[in-house]
Amino acid sequence: MKGIKILVAGALVGVVALSAWAGKPLIVAHRGYWDAPGSAQNSLRSLVKADSVGAYASEFDVWRSTDGVLFVNHDSKFKGVTACEASSKVLAGVVLDNGEPMPTLKQLLTAAQSLPDLRLVFELKEHPDKEAEALAVKEGIQMVKDMGLADRTDYITFSKEALVNFAKYAPEGSLVQYLSGDLTPMQVKVVGGNAIDYHIGVLRRHPEWIKEAHELGMKVNVWTVDRPEDMQWCIDSGVDLITTNQPVVLKGLL
Ligand code: MG
Repeated sequence: MKGIKILVAGALVGVVALSAWAGKPLIVAHRGYWDAPGSAQNSLRSLVKADSVGAYASEFDVWRSTDGVLFVNHDSKFKGVTACEASSKVLAGVVLDNGEPMPTLKQLLTAAQSLPDLRLVFELKEHPDKEAEALAVKEGIQMVKDMGLADRTDYITFSKEALVNFAKYAPEGSLVQYLSGDLTPMQVKVVGGNAIDYHIGVLRRHPEWIKEAHELGMKVNVWTVDRPEDMQWCIDSGVDLITTNQPVVLKGLL
């Protein structure tokens, strides 16, 4: 009888754990939590703010300078500077909207080291130079490992080449997520990805991909969901992660 009780209790714990992941999507702050006083997209401040509002993870974008330094910023051309065509000296001189200099990946990861509850979502931007892109995958993963953040970093990319490389080099336990939305979950899995991270419009057109991904043991992330009615659709559809510019609104809804 006691054995049965333990079995039942164990099963219940399992169900509760499963529903916490399945029933309640986790919040990913898109480019950090930047829509707040004193913050800016992809700034160190936005990382700290994402943590302070209780986001599960904070997403950021990575470019490689011509001399091989990884920087964090979204736009390919920002304040007149094209990230992948500029030197580290030029990029270090670019000032974000909140007055911070554009951070290097190393600076951002250093800030993340003192935010132990925050997971990181590392997006590598699609580089026209595929050799530089491949180097950025390896260098980025190595830096994350060296800084002791391997067990709380996931990887996303629009680039099919980078997807394959992340799948090859990312440590076990990291999510490797494809962003472009032009592959079925099975096609992503075949090249080594273990999650899809698709635009909400893609998942609205292909709601069956959520089930397909789950049946394949993959996670489903969705971007960039800012309207409460869209957030609700994602919650009802059973996605695992929601990437948003409005983490506080989503938290309220959850
Ligand atoms: Mg991004």
